[in-house]
Amino acid sequence: MINFQELAEKYKTPLYVYDFDYMKEQYNALKEAFRGRKSLLSYAVKANSNLSVVQNFARLGSGADCVSIGEVRRALMAGIPPYKILFSGVGKQDDEIQEAIEHDILYINAESIAELERIDLIAKKLDKVCRISVRVNPNIDPKTHPYISTGLSANKFGVDIDSAKRMYIFAKNSSHLDPVGIHFHIGSQLTELEPIRESAIIVADLVRSLHVIDVDLKFFDIGGGLGVVYKDEITITPYDYAQAILSTLTGLDLTIVCEPGRYLTANAGYFLTRVLYEKTNKDKRFIIVDGAMNDLIRPSLYNAYHKIEALKQEGERTKADIVGPVCESGDFFAKDYELPALAHNDLLIVHSAGSYGFGMGSNYNTRGRSAEIAIENGVDRMIRQRETFEDIIALEKDFLQENNE
Ligand SMILES: *Cc1c(COP(=O)(O)O)cnc(C)c1O
Repeated sequence: MINFQELAEKYKTPLYVYDFDYMKEQYNALKEAFRGRKSLLSYAVKANSNLSVVQNFARLGSGADCVSIGEVRRALMAGIPPYKILFSGVGKQDDEIQEAIEHDILYINAESIAELERIDLIAKKLDKVCRISVRVNPNIDPKTHPYISTGLSANKFGVDIDSAKRMYIFAKNSSHLDPVGIHFHIGSQLTELEPIRESAIIVADLVRSLHVIDVDLKFFDIGGGLGVVYKDEITITPYDYAQAILSTLTGLDLTIVCEPGRYLTANAGYFLTRVLYEKTNKDKRFIIVDGAMNDLIRPSLYNAYHKIEALKQEGERTKADIVGPVCESGDFFAKDYELPALAHNDLLIVHSAGSYGFGMGSNYNTRGRSAEIAIENGVDRMIRQRETFEDIIALEKDFLQENNE
């Protein structure tokens, strides 16, 4: 049991708390599900990119799936070896591609013909060979929130099967590209297995037809997206997930690459916030807390549900909107959420805050980002300091002009 009260007193609020042991359990459960096959779990760094979090996975043998060169640098700094690092994303810049090639990472996931040509050009200039994989868009509806759906032609991600084939032929004919993998990632917070299975069938068929034209791939990269329980979702078990994928790969000798983010970190994280005030406008009850949308934007952005727990449990529960101090009506953590009567300084725990929480934060309203804390073997330690006013203005203050008298 984590002593949230003690942590809130020691580190102040708002505060992010991550259970590193839970992250390890999730990693091991998923890794175990792919036992019997060569597999690489590459943690999707964007889910929670704190260096210590990435290091926690590095120590378990994890790779990293990165979507910017900044994330690649984080992964390297946290101890993930280059040969376990992937670089994905629809809009990689020239200098990012160049640096990724120089680091000799496992492969770059190309997401368009134009990008592949760019990678070829840059590799040629460096006189290097770049390992690549093509992100295929299987055009399957993942049945998740539209903002986190990526596997439909209407989404900006990946290329269709025919374009993918052309890209592999282009890569095969280039002396600076080595096509080693194939990639798909159809969305996030997936709770249905069928779209994943259908996508894997389509992509596995493509692997077979590439084999016929002498393009032999080594890595079958199934992306991330495994859903977690925020409220009462029925999720996919690692075993069923692995079996669904493996059943599509008969006769193929491929290393499975999986890029879990949310599955590893979401339910390892808690966001702690204290009550500032309660008020009622007519019949509507508001609980105003010290955390806000600049700390955790998921409710505002996706209408995402987060379980909220009051440490003080006594008293009748009535419905309230839990809102932050930011000047936006969209600044809320929950609406019509049942909580007991609360007083100034009472502590609220927002659950499932370990993914797409801190990382999506901002300094909006000149609010410093929260501190981040790790709990490992019952011991707490700081892994990121709370931002100060000085931190926020550091890159602006030297440009102030002299004030008029
Ligand atoms: C975001 C992302 C992931 C991780 O998604 P989760 O839903 O957090 O598991 C994996 N791969 C790619 C390419 C991504 O963009």
